[in-house]
Amino acid sequence: MADRIAIGLAVTVVGLAAVGWRGWFLYRLVVNGRPAPGRFENVGAQVKAELLDVFAQRKLLRRSVPGLAHFFTFWGFVILMFTIVESYGDLFSKTFAIWGFGRARALGFFEDLFAVAVLVAIVVFAVIRIRQAPSRRERASRFYGSHTDAAWVTLGLIFGVVATLLLYRGAQVDTGDFPYGKSWWPFASRLIGAAFRGLGHSANMGIETAFVLAQLAVIWGFFVFVLHSKHMHIVVSEPNVLFSRRPKALGPLATTPDLDPEKMTEETVFGVGHAGDLTWKQRLDLLTCTECGRCQDQCPAWNTGKPLSPKLVIMGLRDHLFASAGDLLAGGEVAADSVAAKTLVPDVIAPDVLWSCTTCGACVEQCPVDIEHVDTIVDMRRYEVLMEARFPSEAGLMLRNIENQGDPWGLGASHRLEWAEGLGFEVPVVTGTIPDEVEYLFWVGCAGALDERARRTTRSIARLLHHAGVSFAVLGAKESCTGDPARRLGNEYLYQTQAQANIETLHGAGVKKIVASCPHCFNTISREYPALGGDFEVIHHSQLLDRLVAEGRLRPGAGVAATVTYHDPCYLGRHNEIYDQPRGVLKRVPGVELTEMHRHGRTGFCCGAGGARMWLEESIGKRINDERTDEALGTGADVISTACPYCLIMLDDATKGRQAEGKAPESVRVADIAQILEQSLTPPAVSAAAPGEGSGEGEPGAR
Ligand code: SF4
Ligand code: SF4
Repeated sequence: MADRIAIGLAVTVVGLAAVGWRGWFLYRLVVNGRPAPGRFENVGAQVKAELLDVFAQRKLLRRSVPGLAHFFTFWGFVILMFTIVESYGDLFSKTFAIWGFGRARALGFFEDLFAVAVLVAIVVFAVIRIRQAPSRRERASRFYGSHTDAAWVTLGLIFGVVATLLLYRGAQVDTGDFPYGKSWWPFASRLIGAAFRGLGHSANMGIETAFVLAQLAVIWGFFVFVLHSKHMHIVVSEPNVLFSRRPKALGPLATTPDLDPEKMTEETVFGVGHAGDLTWKQRLDLLTCTECGRCQDQCPAWNTGKPLSPKLVIMGLRDHLFASAGDLLAGGEVAADSVAAKTLVPDVIAPDVLWSCTTCGACVEQCPVDIEHVDTIVDMRRYEVLMEARFPSEAGLMLRNIENQGDPWGLGASHRLEWAEGLGFEVPVVTGTIPDEVEYLFWVGCAGALDERARRTTRSIARLLHHAGVSFAVLGAKESCTGDPARRLGNEYLYQTQAQANIETLHGAGVKKIVASCPHCFNTISREYPALGGDFEVIHHSQLLDRLVAEGRLRPGAGVAATVTYHDPCYLGRHNEIYDQPRGVLKRVPGVELTEMHRHGRTGFCCGAGGARMWLEESIGKRINDERTDEALGTGADVISTACPYCLIMLDDATKGRQAEGKAPESVRVADIAQILEQSLTPPAVSAAAPGEGSGEGEPGAR
């Protein structure tokens, strides 16, 4: 007895020392990061997310087989914590039973049930890994680039934990030390006990002692290994999920840097340029990545042959953080020749990787441990743009256009009202303050005002609102770019300049309610302007049209007969959870047969325009808009619909390209949901539509 206590305690001391040393190092590495504001402000939502994403494994269960295997492994480890207490108890006392639970048969049952479930889950994981092994070296595999060997060690250690548990408990059944007496509720232990019975009492005593000690050794070995591998997520995913932005790390960017020159010093750094600039939450993100590849699997850049994989970005930054740890934790100035002095771009992350991101948010949406890829990517862009003045050359023109002309194309304010010509009714333009009887300020957006294809949508929306008796006015030449493309590109200074000017204009006009047709404008005004003092009630046109149809103020008739597929704009769907209203509009149009693409809703695939990519060259791999359009054409739809001017332009370009190549029927059209709705109205909304608009000839799916 004394020997086994001594060995057990020795194993424990060594294990505790190794785990404590590593745990302290990791803790210091995280808390050494820069502040991450706003992590304790939404406690209710944070706790809810912890319950759903950690304890209910919500995101993992979206993939049923590996999700279920992970669910049982997670809960197996929670339940098996009781068995660790029992193992230690058995070291000291043959009659030990957990305080409070005593020898409850239910506890014994659940311990055995989850032990067996974990063994089954290990087999499932092993089969998945073996089956996917040949494809792991291919880009299409979500495990491409992951450390797969560590996963085998972990599976082996988990097997060791469960196997030693069942073996010592089986022996206990025959030695009389089993805490659950003769009950068959702990069924697995009793079956093993029945198999061991013939070995005799003393052999079973030896087995019990050997496997109790073996279990303690395997458990401590497991903890030590976990803290040195990607399986660290077992202990850091809980705080990472808890401290992630809520409702999720999409929509507004995490931080709005204070650009007040009075507060700037020599040490002020905008964005993230070195390992030392990472916030504590970004560092925790890096430690938490499980390398599961769910983000990579959905990334439009990776799926079209670009070098950007969100998983590989996180892994690259994590490896660099560890390599820089000594320098960072030493305190004081970082030496110029040290690892920590390396600039993240290009020393760790290649520029082509950084600039390939469309900020679509598919990675954030998929990540089971709530890593915030988009915030980190934009933070690195901020450093590149604001601190180093390094960015793709073509972006310079777009930024100058916004700065000088107030729109990314550089067409200028004088063209902003051309879309309203020939509508057949007067569109009020706000000159002083918006009149009381006007309900909405219609924020047209740069694309909606200046791009000919997007103008069609703008005109449709205006006619629909007019038809439904919704009073609205526009800012006309006083409207200017919201700053979204500049912000996503990393030029926070230009964004804040634009935002403050627009907020001032809107406040000056006494605007309270805004309807926006561009999801990027919608997201920026509703969710980013508040940080700069602009609080407005903002609605997207898909939401308003859905409501007007539901209220009977717009009555779709039989003007359309078409199969329609709907493309979710990232900044409407994933960033703002507006999936149902655009579909609601389409479903209420009698002749429309809605067909979904394989990737839709929260797994929708970007059009390629977000993150300021609309204005950047796309010379690597397949064009993202071609990929998305091919998927839409694959549904056989007559109309590819959307609710975003960026998406409309990108999909229209790609559709016309495919038609020119003879790969798509000439009859296929790209249209906003507003155009489809308008075309179906009874009586028609158009009183003086331009040719080819509204319910006239040449529109998509017109009878
Ligand atoms: S935001 Fe989109 S493009 Fe950027 S890394 Fe994530 S999935 Fe890829
Ligand atoms: S970032 Fe998230 S989704 Fe991507 S590999 Fe890591 S854990 Fe998986």
